[in-house]
Amino acid sequence: MSRQTQAIIHLDKIKQNYQLANQWAPRSKNIAIIKADAYGHGLLKVADYLQPHVAAFGVAIIDEALALRQAGISKNILVLQGVNEAEELQSASEANLWLSIHHPSQVELILRTELKKPIKLWLKLDSGMHRLGISPQQYPKAIDDLLACAWVDPALVLSTHFSCAGDLRSSISAQQLDVFNQLIASQVSCQNLERSLANSAALASIPESHADWNRPGIMLYGLPLFEQSHASDKALQASMTFNTQVIAVRQLKKGECVGYSRRWQAQRESRIATLAVGYADGYPRQAKDGTPVYIRGKLAPLVGHVSMDLISIDVTDIPQVQIGDKAELWGEHLSANRVAEYADTIGYDLITGVSQRVKRIYIKE
Ligand SMILES: *Cc1c(COP(=O)(O)O)cnc(C)c1O
Repeated sequence: MSRQTQAIIHLDKIKQNYQLANQWAPRSKNIAIIKADAYGHGLLKVADYLQPHVAAFGVAIIDEALALRQAGISKNILVLQGVNEAEELQSASEANLWLSIHHPSQVELILRTELKKPIKLWLKLDSGMHRLGISPQQYPKAIDDLLACAWVDPALVLSTHFSCAGDLRSSISAQQLDVFNQLIASQVSCQNLERSLANSAALASIPESHADWNRPGIMLYGLPLFEQSHASDKALQASMTFNTQVIAVRQLKKGECVGYSRRWQAQRESRIATLAVGYADGYPRQAKDGTPVYIRGKLAPLVGHVSMDLISIDVTDIPQVQIGDKAELWGEHLSANRVAEYADTIGYDLITGVSQRVKRIYIKE
């Protein structure tokens, strides 16, 4: 039998989550964001399955887009970071990629690199996140320069990105929306151009941010979208279930310790199960004592440091647990976001961090 530490990937749930994006933003085209190996789910498998159902794909870097083209994916693909070198720009053009342009240096690269056919560009405004995007001062000139360039498709898409959409109490998204809308309203050249603002959290909570294109990522994979609870939590379905198996069980006396540096000490006579997963599989090493693991329909707490290939859990209160039992680290019964709270990180980090050692099992239903 093969190793039971596996990520079960429900492709059908990714599709259903994507269809929710279409329901929640019925007037938009939604780009399925599949960067970072489709958030750890497997880039090519996810793209191949979703291709007939989605408006376009989005990835972070050109290598991801070229891998999709090599695998025969013909759908439009947006490269969110664009390119920085003439050679990459030529490859992007040959592969018919869409590029997001976020910096004046990229505008200059395009103006000085002649292409054989018009390239489709998205032009990103820095509306306040101050990570990527052209400043409001430089944005109008960037538009004019690109519209005057013979090898730029004049149907630019104007875009921006929110910094705090996941916090329902924040007013920052409204401010960013104002910056974006005011700038566009002031430019005659912008009036007929398409727009794109929303990531998953904005798509689910800020209808005014819905535009020609939205860019849902995390919602496709079914994680809760907000720091607070929200109606969307119930509708989304986790598409990755990360499973492992009990490979040892032992009885400890009160006062005995578990694992490296004896971090956890038994406060009573305890039964400890050892599971075949560790940080080399992408289980977070920072996970604290008490991090929940789902086993036999209950939650058992992690005890002791996460090792490279192993973790231990306290199953004193779940006496049926035995060698060979399956355990869920996150997924259908236990949200990756919940586990992430115990490891000082976020669900995105956990699902994108499942390592290549973990076999992905694909379910289409
Ligand atoms: C990753 C990314 C998204 C998707 O964000 P989610 O929070 O995963 O929905 C959208 N737009 C840009 C520019 C991104 O980098």
